Amino acid sequence: MDAISYERAGDVAGAVRAAQQPGAVFIGGGTNLLDLMKGGVARPLRLIDITHISGLDTVTTLPNGGIRIGALVRNSDAANHALVREQYPLLTQAFLAGASSQLRNMATVGGNLLQRTRCGYFCDTAFTQCNKRIPGSGCAALEGHNRTHAILGASPQCIAVNPSDMSVALAALDAVVRVSGPISGPAGERTIPFADFHRLPGDRPDIDTTLQAGELITAVDLPPPLFSANAHYLKVRDRASYAFALVSVAAALQMDGDHVRTARIALGGVAHKPWRASAAEQMLNGQPLMQARLHEAAAAALHDARPQHENAFKVQLAQRAIVRAVNLAAGRTRGVA
Ligand SMILES: Cc1cc2nc3c(=O)[nH]c(=O)nc-3n(C[C@H](O)[C@H](O)[C@H](O)COP(=O)(O)OP(=O)(O)OC[C@H]3O[C@@H](n4cnc5c(N)ncnc54)[C@H](O)[C@@H]3O)c2cc1C
Ligand code: SF4
Repeated sequence: MDAISYERAGDVAGAVRAAQQPGAVFIGGGTNLLDLMKGGVARPLRLIDITHISGLDTVTTLPNGGIRIGALVRNSDAANHALVREQYPLLTQAFLAGASSQLRNMATVGGNLLQRTRCGYFCDTAFTQCNKRIPGSGCAALEGHNRTHAILGASPQCIAVNPSDMSVALAALDAVVRVSGPISGPAGERTIPFADFHRLPGDRPDIDTTLQAGELITAVDLPPPLFSANAHYLKVRDRASYAFALVSVAAALQMDGDHVRTARIALGGVAHKPWRASAAEQMLNGQPLMQARLHEAAAAALHDARPQHENAFKVQLAQRAIVRAVNLAAGRTRGVA
């Protein structure tokens, strides 16, 4: 049995300081970290409990009209906060599509951002080939079961997907992650645009994000709400609840009558990070929302897809999910493909 020390941080500076000790990790709700520890996938020496730091558990408005969601806000509280529900319904829908109500009551926003992949070969230490868990050991999923794995942006080193629903909505909304740490700038703080927060696997699949060692996520900032009227989060999964996405789509539109002024589309369940469908967005921007064009845009979003032997179905599934999510975001519930 491994000895693990436990320390409760009282403030951000104390948490960052404590995290400099060898083998230290932050613990938020613990819904992912403790599972990984029980399975021997994560073996920290020190747990730094951040859940008692004051000031990180609130949702506040920003001078620019956006909002700041503290890293310790529980997923259920974030989903049901009036500002989020009314101004960022896409995010509320994505939160509520994730996990179960019991888990959402524990899970924090910061922890959700850093939850690790659900690749079975990563989560089970009986498998010895996993570049994410044991760098240089190989990737069992390449020749093994890969039905749930990536079709975009993967590498020969790793084909895992990011499992977070919340993060797909944050990608579409162009959120910004606020972090504090020893090397985070003169004030010990820096911001990371959401598109730069999660990484593609490349030749370092063991690194999920651009967060530096010992950096604490303090909040997520959302820009002013532009998409409150027309947004939809669509999650396609093997069963109706308590399952990770095979494919998900966060669609957010600014509409001028029948025209799309601005489209934002992000995909989940298809890549190592939430995947912005920029080509599809560009094909829809400034255009009337015609079904033929929408199908072309969905095809463009998957143009670079490279499926594995068990998951070619995801390509068409993602295309259809984009069409459906965009139609639903536009308020079109009839005649959608
Ligand atoms: C059965 C089950 C089903 C699930 N289904 C879904 C699903 O459908 N969709 C979905 O999106 N998620 C799902 N989840 C995952 C769940 O959303 C995550 O476990 C949860 O969001 C993690 O948050 P946490 O606060 O518990 O993180 P923790 O487990 O406490 O931490 C996770 C990681 O983040 C780090 N960390 C935590 N907070 C910070 C911080 N502020 N700064 C820096 N590092 C930090 C920890 O060190 C750890 O590495 C499911 C989980 C379970 C167990
Ligand atoms: S896909 Fe990634 S996480 Fe899964 S076995 Fe391969 S290297 Fe490990």
